[in-house]
Amino acid sequence: MAMSEHSDVVDTSARAQCPYCGEDVTLELDPGGGVSQIYVQDCEVCCRPWRVEVRFRGATAEVVLRAEP
Ligand SMILES: [Zn+2]
Repeated sequence: MAMSEHSDVVDTSARAQCPYCGEDVTLELDPGGGVSQIYVQDCEVCCRPWRVEVRFRGATAEVVLRAEP
């Protein structure tokens, strides 16, 4: 039985750290929104706005949170 190489399980959430309060947070992701996404979302802990940068590399999402200037 051949091993399937098609494990198309794309990350739909990712963990990152809030640049304001330092809290570890889990973000819900939308892989259907494109391989590269930038949007603004509020921290659910300190309610300050992040600039969220998401990049999908294959099935793995890379997420960077930046403080909005
Ligand atoms: Zn925060």
